[in-house]
Amino acid sequence: MSQDRIAKLIRPEIAALSAYHVPPARGLIKLDAMENPYRWPPEMVDAWLATLRDAEINRYPDPAAGALKDKLRTAMDVPAGMDILLGNGSDEIIQMLAMALARPGAGILAPEPSFVMYRMIATLCGMDYTGVPLAADFALDLPATLAAIERQRPALLFIAYPNNPTGNLFARADVEAVIQAAPGLVVIDEAYAPFAGGESFMADLGRFDNLVVMRTVSKMGLAGLRLGLLAGSAEWLSEFDKLRLPYNINVLTQATAEFALEYGDMFEEQAAAICAERAALFDALTGLEGVEAFRSDANFILFRTPPGRAAELHAAMRERGVLVKNIGATDGPLADCLRVTVALPAENAAFLAALKAAL
Ligand SMILES: *Cc1c(COP(=O)(O)O)cnc(C)c1O
Repeated sequence: MSQDRIAKLIRPEIAALSAYHVPPARGLIKLDAMENPYRWPPEMVDAWLATLRDAEINRYPDPAAGALKDKLRTAMDVPAGMDILLGNGSDEIIQMLAMALARPGAGILAPEPSFVMYRMIATLCGMDYTGVPLAADFALDLPATLAAIERQRPALLFIAYPNNPTGNLFARADVEAVIQAAPGLVVIDEAYAPFAGGESFMADLGRFDNLVVMRTVSKMGLAGLRLGLLAGSAEWLSEFDKLRLPYNINVLTQATAEFALEYGDMFEEQAAAICAERAALFDALTGLEGVEAFRSDANFILFRTPPGRAAELHAAMRERGVLVKNIGATDGPLADCLRVTVALPAENAAFLAALKAAL
């Protein structure tokens, strides 16, 4: 009975979707989600718990999260004069932006392949979505992108810098040309900034009036917190702030992030260790017969397996206790590709051993 009602009431584009799927990882070495593998030293955990003891969990959180924003401003080099908007993960920020700009006929444009949430949130918000294929070397196809911008006039344009799942940084001049050509808002999504050797558009915020920069604490080591931020001018951000549900950053997240950001050096050391492991892992993958690894400026590596074997190798590695991401493409630029998170040396070694055995 309820089926009839559901079919009548749920928007067809929602009915056609599947919920975001997170594969079970219990007991596996989890290398599918770009998490930081390092745990905190025990003294730091004790100090953190002491902070939480004072958290006023009976009260609503500070809606403006002023103290946390100040720390983020310093940690992420947000230029003076720019504002910060916080989200429950950058995913929530993408949703706020889309909801604010989703007039009938308005669209989102992004390079393809890129972060899957851009397309998913466009669908959720009833916006058109245009994916512009990347060049064969995963660079921006600038002529195609400019032509698509001219044709679609997107309200919102996302560029992941570095890109997920390819791992590369686009040429800065190409990104600037896109920002200049775009009639709408351009979001540079810098989720992987800690691994990108300082490459960022944060310092360019004042140069373009249609540019905002998105960051998250997830990939640097706080994925469990769910905290992302958007940096940009007060004119833009005050509009998006109207869509933010009150108290979207909870008391525990605010207290924990404020605490953790005092340990910036530790997170930087972890990122440096991950970048060193990334180089070793890239060389090891490149040395494997039949495997093509792609250079990465993020904390993961995309690699191509022998034709037609991605699903089988993915399953065989899981049997051996290692979970990577199967991109799931049988043709196109990501055909036969898997993506692995760079993790602890022992975990990376276990991954390589599992892959070699499976090959
Ligand atoms: C992982 C990822 C995010 C997600 O960030 P959260 O803050 O955890 O929601 C955003 N953008 C890109 C490109 C990502 O890969």
